[in-house]
Amino acid sequence: QNRAIAVGVDLGTSGVRVAALGELGNIVGMALSSYGSAEERRKPEAWWRHVRQSLKQLATEVRLDGVRGIAVDGTSGSLLALDAAGKALGEASLYNDTCNDTAILAAIDAHAPPDSAARGHTSPLARAFSLQKLGGIAQVVHQADWIAAQIAGDGLVISDENNALKTGFDLNTRCWPDWMERIGFDRSLLPTVCPAGSPLRTVSPRARTVDFPKDAMLFAGTTDGCASFLATGAKHHGEAVTALGSTLVIKIASHRPINAPEYGIYSHRVRDMWLAGGASNTGGAVIRNFFADDRLRELSAGMSPDQPTGLDYYPLIEPGERFPVNDPVMAPRLTPRPNDDVKFFQAILEGIATVEKQGYDRLHELGGPAAISVRTVGGGAKNKAWTQIRHNKMDVPFVDSLSAEAAVGTARLVLMGLQTA
Ligand code: ADP
Repeated sequence: QNRAIAVGVDLGTSGVRVAALGELGNIVGMALSSYGSAEERRKPEAWWRHVRQSLKQLATEVRLDGVRGIAVDGTSGSLLALDAAGKALGEASLYNDTCNDTAILAAIDAHAPPDSAARGHTSPLARAFSLQKLGGIAQVVHQADWIAAQIAGDGLVISDENNALKTGFDLNTRCWPDWMERIGFDRSLLPTVCPAGSPLRTVSPRARTVDFPKDAMLFAGTTDGCASFLATGAKHHGEAVTALGSTLVIKIASHRPINAPEYGIYSHRVRDMWLAGGASNTGGAVIRNFFADDRLRELSAGMSPDQPTGLDYYPLIEPGERFPVNDPVMAPRLTPRPNDDVKFFQAILEGIATVEKQGYDRLHELGGPAAISVRTVGGGAKNKAWTQIRHNKMDVPFVDSLSAEAAVGTARLVLMGLQTA
């Protein structure tokens, strides 16, 4: 059996995945435990059960007795309230839940700095404030923080700068800012925050549920988004990752942060890099609106990627775009529709590719680096015709991703931490 030295635990939207890396950064094992129902996504006890389950599975594949470091990533913005004993109270508040308390939203709007990531209807800070208003809570923590505390086995909950960003953490002063008190939010409810990937403490001798060596170090974790970036292998200034999933999301590693709230752009600090990115409303969801996934291969095979259709589409499901152009009423552009479905599909892919290029141009304009390479993840990454179309527009090297699994990215974060510790 292979020996693992670093383990990453990923709490994603559909379940828990764990990845183990060997001494050289090679993936030596992976395991998955999927949520059995949508309700489980909200239940902290279910998260923890699936974490234990997937680690148990991993232990059947690889030797964990040489593990030197562990970290956890979670869905960015998922929160839970704890009682004084560190026990989860009720169900979690998820990343895409909205805060319906208009007074809270208005207070954040009035007091948060213009470029704060804590703004908006799904703001984790707003949802944390709602939990405070319910009363009877001792702490509000992120999903990844709490799972890491369970693994450590000592009940001490520490967060990381990536999970904390949208909860309003100030990356300049490295504090929960004063303005939180001015809106009536008790920031002492929030956990201490450490830089993502920094060593926290060794696993407690009391940790009995997971069999890691007692000198294994727990590292501060990250969000699933940052972890997915790290998984690809991108890490140097100018290295970019495009996610062609339901939506188009682009990220780039940069020496300095890029923050442009009007475009929904903010930057995470991961070790000595900033990960800046933006999400467009265009993406695979528009494709799925017209074509079932099982037709896409046949349609793609008939395309002529080097002969553009000349149809200037801006594929959207409904009006409104945020990035790379901020236009809340922008109309979808998907006409004229040719009779030939191959040509129609090609025009949609060309349209999304144009938005991708504009996205990278926008990040560059706002002070970020020009992309020096692009790695691609998500459902559209396997489409060779699309890759060709995108490459024709972008003119930078396209590089294969090492992995598309966030758990691998988090394990890589651990490995980087071990190398500098
Ligand atoms: P999610 O963002 O939901 O995790 P995925 O990464 O699983 O999305 O990607 C799903 C999207 O990929 C769907 O919107 C689908 O239309 C698109 N997709 C799947 N296969 C292809 C393909 N061969 N070519 C282009 N797009 C595809």
